[in-house]
Amino acid sequence: MTKRILFLMSDTGGGHRASAQAIAKAIHHLYPHSYETIIEDIWKEHTPWPIDCMPDTYNWLSGPGVPFWKLLWKGTMMDTPRERFFEVMAPVFRRHAVPYLQKIKPDLVISVHPVLNHTGMDWLAHAGLQHVPFVTVVTDMVTVHPLWICPEVTRCIVPTQTAYNTAVGYGMPRHKLAIYGQPVDYLFAELIGEKRTLRRKLGLNESRRTVLIMGGGGGVGRMYEVSRAIAQTVPQAQLLIVTGHNEKLKAQLDKVAWEIPTHVYGFVENMPELMSTADMLITKAGPGTLSEAFIAGLPPIIFDYIPGQETGNVDYVLENKAGAYAHNIGDIVSLVRAWMNPANPQLQEMSHRAAALARPQAALDIAADVCQLLPATIPYESQNMRFEAMPALMP
Ligand code: UDP
Repeated sequence: MTKRILFLMSDTGGGHRASAQAIAKAIHHLYPHSYETIIEDIWKEHTPWPIDCMPDTYNWLSGPGVPFWKLLWKGTMMDTPRERFFEVMAPVFRRHAVPYLQKIKPDLVISVHPVLNHTGMDWLAHAGLQHVPFVTVVTDMVTVHPLWICPEVTRCIVPTQTAYNTAVGYGMPRHKLAIYGQPVDYLFAELIGEKRTLRRKLGLNESRRTVLIMGGGGGVGRMYEVSRAIAQTVPQAQLLIVTGHNEKLKAQLDKVAWEIPTHVYGFVENMPELMSTADMLITKAGPGTLSEAFIAGLPPIIFDYIPGQETGNVDYVLENKAGAYAHNIGDIVSLVRAWMNPANPQLQEMSHRAAALARPQAALDIAADVCQLLPATIPYESQNMRFEAMPALMP
């Protein structure tokens, strides 16, 4: 019988869904017709009101509500108040989630969300499914909140050595851990080097230096101001602006009479193509976006970050000299102008260093690892020889 893998995620930002989709796609690629995968926003769909509305506040929390987000982040870093809160809330969280799990009866559960590890394990226990293997795939690249780390899980997969060290510090046994990189669509690796062909295919100007501007799945941050400033002051550029789920921003940008070739997209499904076709990226410090950019050898100019989970990502890019951070619009434009200059080697150097951080096999390696927890899969040997091999964990 086909084995069923359930991904626990929530649309707080676009990264958790994108990670789950990348792993699921890799599972189907490696083991065709062997598994059924279900990606469920369990927080929104299977918790009672008003808890189910909380994920929808994320865009506000990561924008105008940032001061409140900082308080929330700091508060939940403290063990006792956090543990007390989840203890008190557990019966409410369980009310719809447990019957859902009993109905679905997964053979393997993978959480790609910080809030769904301790709670996910609690739901499984109350659903009588404590024998089901539970894997956490940490999708924050560097700064790992303690909520991610539940030492009782079967397996915990992290993207970087820093994240590994933090997980150990929070009590995760080393034998349960593996480092594979951030799970992103394995197609990113296949599109590199096709810039001109892709530009033709996408109806873009083939020769102009191309700047991709985005703000995660929600299209957050000062994307309008940044785009306008570049269009007005960098005449040799071409702009690709991805507004994600931010329809208001898309409508605003659609009305502009652009000074340079500019393409405004809503939520796109072809991010590997857009990244492969661009020369530089202006983005907030989302871990998914940055990891994809590394694979495409696309140096990021980070214009914003969410305090807490994205803080370490900025340091990671700067320490590795794989991109830049600029908050002021004037500084962002200056960097774009400098990197545009063909006589300036900086863009190419940054591009090489960004590519050196890439882990294009991550989703495939994670897929192979987690499928070992379910019997009857064919062996998969990682082609990712550049990276530290981690011992496989057998159930
Ligand atoms: N993304 C996408 N289409 C869009 C906008 C974003 O597929 O139109 C993807 C992007 O490629 C990345 C994810 O959404 O995989 C955003 O994740 P990230 O961690 O960068 O930021 P978040 O949205 O979670 O804050």
